[in-house]
Amino acid sequence: MKAFIYDQSYEAILNTLTAWGEPSYRADQIWKGLYERFWSTPEQFTTLSKELRKKLGDEYAFSHLREERVLRAKDGLTVKILFRLPDGKAIETVLMHYPFRNRQDRHTVCISTQVGCAMGCTFCATGQMGFQRHLSSGEIIEQVIYCARQLAESGQSFTNVVVMGMGEPFHNYEATLEAIRRLNDPKGMEMGARRFTVSTVGVVPGIRHFAQEEIQANLAISLHAVDDELRSSMLPINKKYPIREVLNACRQYTEKTSRRVTFEWALVKDVNDTPQQAQQLAHLLRGMLAHVNLIPLNPTEKFAGEASSEERAKAFLAILEENGLSCSIRLRRGIEIQAGCGQLASGSW
Ligand code: SAH
Ligand code: SF4
Repeated sequence: MKAFIYDQSYEAILNTLTAWGEPSYRADQIWKGLYERFWSTPEQFTTLSKELRKKLGDEYAFSHLREERVLRAKDGLTVKILFRLPDGKAIETVLMHYPFRNRQDRHTVCISTQVGCAMGCTFCATGQMGFQRHLSSGEIIEQVIYCARQLAESGQSFTNVVVMGMGEPFHNYEATLEAIRRLNDPKGMEMGARRFTVSTVGVVPGIRHFAQEEIQANLAISLHAVDDELRSSMLPINKKYPIREVLNACRQYTEKTSRRVTFEWALVKDVNDTPQQAQQLAHLLRGMLAHVNLIPLNPTEKFAGEASSEERAKAFLAILEENGLSCSIRLRRGIEIQAGCGQLASGSW
């Protein structure tokens, strides 16, 4: 199989060109074509000679993602794309539009890092699929490029990248970070580090590494429970990395980066949505630079739990607020297009 061009570093492309006897500025032209113009075939590189385009096409694959299904929510604000990879596996990417009356619209892309996931969280469609394989850095990047191209067609560009699609990013640490580094590269898209949020189920060594990275992207932790017994029953990885260790790693992250950590909490009716649990959560996070994101559960086929009522969610939020915690309820989005993590690729539609 040909090497995938979005897997290549700038230096690797430069080395190939040098070996071909091409001047180094050609590497810049190719890089700009890939990361500024979002070109997806060698023929589009009209800045290069025909021979060089041919050579590039012989050497590299320019796309790994084949768009197989595009689902749009009725309001048009959430778009979910199912991509087929060259080996036949499927992944999902979600593009979310947030229109504003008085300021510029925002666009967020939610990307996947793996096909399936090994972490086995009971309520998650991706977890229910099991692990299939890691995505390469280029396959992570191409999801962003695809959305950037879509937005560019209507004169827009996206605001944020959230690594909250299929897979556990810290189980595919190097490829995920490599993708972020390359998208952050000033020679290409130059997406600021603050525009990335990486969400982890709480893989402690990953959190510790992430704190030491030069690129300081935002960190989100899927917490979902205050006690280890309940958390282990929902997120089996908690047996390896219990709550106390996860929070200690988060404190170190904040110490190192001065950045707040977002804690995600999927509200499951009568499981983790009681007023007592809200009190305990506020207590657990006391003194930390934290934000809590409440998400009503997105129902999945193999999980019996139900989403909390709006009333229950608001009461939970109110308790956190009374305790001085920064928090929000995330809008339920794209329920009718199965926009929850992994729901489309797992075939539960
Ligand atoms: N593996 C990472 C990132 C992908 S999951 C992680 O777990 O953080 C992104 C978020 O969606 C996580 O907070 C996860 O707990 C949440 N999630 C997964 N399935 C969900 C569901 N059915 N309803 C609501 N949130 C869900
Ligand atoms: Fe994996 Fe995240 Fe789903 Fe858990 S919630 S199974 S870590 S994708």
